[in-house]
Amino acid sequence: MTCCHSKPATMTHQLVVVAISIGAFAALAYSINNYRKWKSGKSRRHAKPFLTNKHESKTVTLISKESVTHDVRLFRFQLPNSDNTLGILAGEHIKLTADIASRTMFRFYSPISKPEEKGYFEIIMKIYSPNSENPNQGTFSRYMDSLPLDSDITISGPFGRFGYLSNGDFLVNAKAVMKYKSIAMISGGSGLTPMLPIIREVIKENHINGPKLSLIYTNKTEDDVIQSDELKRYAHTHDSFNLTLVFTRLMKKESDRQDPVKWIEKFERIDESLFSNTFPKPQENVLVLICGPKGMNEAAKLICTSLGYPNIHVF
Ligand SMILES: Cc1cc2nc3c(=O)[nH]c(=O)nc-3n(C[C@H](O)[C@H](O)[C@H](O)COP(=O)(O)OP(=O)(O)OC[C@H]3O[C@@H](n4cnc5c(N)ncnc54)[C@H](O)[C@@H]3O)c2cc1C
Repeated sequence: MTCCHSKPATMTHQLVVVAISIGAFAALAYSINNYRKWKSGKSRRHAKPFLTNKHESKTVTLISKESVTHDVRLFRFQLPNSDNTLGILAGEHIKLTADIASRTMFRFYSPISKPEEKGYFEIIMKIYSPNSENPNQGTFSRYMDSLPLDSDITISGPFGRFGYLSNGDFLVNAKAVMKYKSIAMISGGSGLTPMLPIIREVIKENHINGPKLSLIYTNKTEDDVIQSDELKRYAHTHDSFNLTLVFTRLMKKESDRQDPVKWIEKFERIDESLFSNTFPKPQENVLVLICGPKGMNEAAKLICTSLGYPNIHVF
């Protein structure tokens, strides 16, 4: 008896649960999609995101190229229409494709321009030179460095697991929104690129309850630091941004340094004490982002895992 009466009731209950779940999922997907469109410009007045489907290749034009450091360049690309935004979130990346020496090659890059920037976008790229260990090193970056202005290049995107929305919210795996109170970042050299637009967004928002930012940025020397003035300015003007510059090679003379107030420059390599002295304590609402050379990424991930950080993302 019990069986006969309870079965339809259980099934109805299950159907209701499934229907509610589907509804909730659809509503979440809809709102995330709208949030992304708004953030990347579609719903802003006169703004149209250029990249909407990562499987679709599109063409942009190189319009300027300048040196940032001795081996890093800032490339600016024009979008076809002046009301186009690139269509990616801060922290996401795009794919550049080119035919180099009769081979189609691609590499990923994290644009550093603001997501809402219209008509153009920018990439900071390290140019690798061949060396005795790796005589073919730098095929793509050297090709880009030699590319004349007004050349076209193929791009696609957006790609990436983490895109910054606003006020500590990240779009994760293009389907969930996660909120973090603190963003703890470790970058090496050109690995600053996915962090820079996130830092710029948070600084621009200037929310009293916005996320706290800590950046450990490692380079060989002071001359290798990308956007040094910008980062130091933020560190000076925003209590919510904590900057630690780490150098692995000889530093400039003490007297040559300017304003060593909010950053430290004494570490030779990253270690556990650097992380625990710099980063907020491991908690569920702390997101650790890592981007740099392979060795640094592995070391940083190991240290952060052993310190107990629950959310670690390596770009
Ligand atoms: C998601 C993502 C975003 C990236 N964003 C940028 C960016 O904004 N600016 C930028 O300059 N580079 C970025 N890179 C690295 C870029 O994709 C190329 O690997 C780099 O330009 C070297 O390519 P190449 O052909 O010139 O040299 P290659 O000969 O292919 O590589 C040169 C050297 O680069 C290092 N390298 C290769 N791949 C990586 C990697 N994935 N991460 C770190 N180091 C690597 C190795 O030491 C290698 O010896 C990104 C990589 C990924 C995966």
